[in-house]
Amino acid sequence: IALSLVSIVGTFPGLAVRLVLVATAIGCVVVFVSVQRNSAAGSRLGLLLLSSLMGVAALIAATIQPAPLGTITGFVFLGFAVCIAATEPVRTAIIFAGLALALGLTAITFRSMVAGAAATVFTVITVLAVYVVIRFRMIVSDARDRAVADALTDPLTGLGNRRRMDLAVTMLGQIAERSGQSLGCLTIDIDHFKRVNDESGHDAGDEVLRATADTIADNVRRGDLVVRLGGDEFAVFTIVSNRETLEVMGERIRAAMETSTTHPMVTVSVGGAMTVAVTDEEVKALLSASDRALYEAKQSGRNALNVISAASA
Ligand code: GH3
Ligand code: MG
Repeated sequence: IALSLVSIVGTFPGLAVRLVLVATAIGCVVVFVSVQRNSAAGSRLGLLLLSSLMGVAALIAATIQPAPLGTITGFVFLGFAVCIAATEPVRTAIIFAGLALALGLTAITFRSMVAGAAATVFTVITVLAVYVVIRFRMIVSDARDRAVADALTDPLTGLGNRRRMDLAVTMLGQIAERSGQSLGCLTIDIDHFKRVNDESGHDAGDEVLRATADTIADNVRRGDLVVRLGGDEFAVFTIVSNRETLEVMGERIRAAMETSTTHPMVTVSVGGAMTVAVTDEEVKALLSASDRALYEAKQSGRNALNVISAASA
């Protein structure tokens, strides 16, 4: 738009028209650069500049002859609508596109020799351009949401992965702290999982991992964070007010695995710890305390639960 505006400056004898064209071109560049830099304030300022100049241009278009300023004005309104569609929420974009369409149509039909045809062409172009921009934004934002979700999900089990844990766990810890409770952590590891792979094959091993993930997820509360730490080890983060609550949850998971009907059947060992954990370091300490408790559960003969009360214990 800026280039086409500048390219026609010479065809207008009036200084006012030339100034408006050049200033409008500058407004277009401001909007373009702000959008490129993702600067909402800049693009709003640019759009304000553009729309003010459009007002002036529309006034001039309505009063002077014989310039094709009606068409120019109409198409700059189109550019304006596309800019809004590229930066603002869909509802705002549609409202502004409607406004730009009405104003552009007025300018074009007012000054065109073939008003009906010009109006039709302008309407089609505006609606298509705005639709394409909005649709494209939706596709890009869906793809981005999916990419973020994939990056935080373990593909085999559908549980969160370590990255999700790093992102979500401190928030859970802060909620626990604010409500005067602790962050509880259970670490769960399948007993003799290597045997499953060795005796029944890797695919059966994967199936057992999926079934274990489902069993754990079915036995926690809504809002708890369940992740696969890697291999056959899982973790649950939950807000608890006392050790018994954490023990009950750990025991429920252990017992559910003991009675589950996975083929081949497996049991799990569960370690647990709880503390007020808010910082990354505190969460790390909590996880390793829970891991130590898990190790002791393994040592005690597996298919066992061992919950310690504090991360430092
Ligand atoms: P323990 O009771 O001491 O935990 O014994 P274990 O045999 O379970 O030992 P460990 O936890 O160290 O074994 C983990 C095994 O999990 C080793 C590895 O081959 C297997 N494994 C890790 N990731 C996968 C996976 O994605 N699919 C399958 N099928 N196996 C995996
Ligand atoms: Mg294991």
